[in-house]
Amino acid sequence: MTMDYSENGHSNHRQAECEWMVQTQIMSRDIRDEAVLNSMLMVPRHRFVREDRQEYAYYDTALEIEAEQTISQPYMVALMAQALELKASDKVLEIGTGSGYSAAILSRIATNIFTIERHALLADLAKERFRKLGYGNIEVCVGDGTLGWPERAPFDGILVTAGGPAIPDTLVGQLAFGGRIVIPVGDKGEQHLLRVRRMMSGELIQEDLGTVRFVPLIGAKGWSGPNGNLS
Ligand code: SAM
Repeated sequence: MTMDYSENGHSNHRQAECEWMVQTQIMSRDIRDEAVLNSMLMVPRHRFVREDRQEYAYYDTALEIEAEQTISQPYMVALMAQALELKASDKVLEIGTGSGYSAAILSRIATNIFTIERHALLADLAKERFRKLGYGNIEVCVGDGTLGWPERAPFDGILVTAGGPAIPDTLVGQLAFGGRIVIPVGDKGEQHLLRVRRMMSGELIQEDLGTVRFVPLIGAKGWSGPNGNLS
């Protein structure tokens, strides 16, 4: 698997590390969706990681970012992207922009990505990364993502990258018929990654994709924050 991804923001040695990451952490597990694998090869994860964490950018781990948040483990990003079952024409909402990495992955798979982050600092850093990488199909908003983005609804896919106590009814209400929500639900320590599918009949089908650990989803339909819901 030797390809030239330099136009995607990879230097040669970083490209090799990215290929190693995809082979050893993603393909070797249960990720088979070609669009997800291609996107994981294309997006330079090191461009979403803090300067002092650069050497670990392609490691099999979540890493600290600004505002005491995290960029998720690469495998978890791939697993959630695959679980969304996206088509190229899909419109996707992400709650929890963080570094912007998972939105970037989604943006190489689907047409329009909308992402909400409660920390303005993180939203600004992510916007700047998208601009530098030329990812023009991602719109970023600062606010409480548990309320969704009604002006842009309905969405074919909704990805929540923080763990909440329950599935926000607001998000279910913004899901297209046939759409999927992927969200960690549980307590603050451990959650179950749930996929909820809104059938064409309107019926909701829920599946449990396993145990995960995410930072808390803080908002009106999530956990209470230290200073109220928004900071
Ligand atoms: N998707 C991110 C990435 O690729 O770097 C990982 C995000 S991190 C695990 C979860 C993010 O959710 C944090 O940046 C946190 O500030 C954000 N968050 C938590 N509650 C939120 C809410 N109600 N609305 C928007 N963002 C929220």
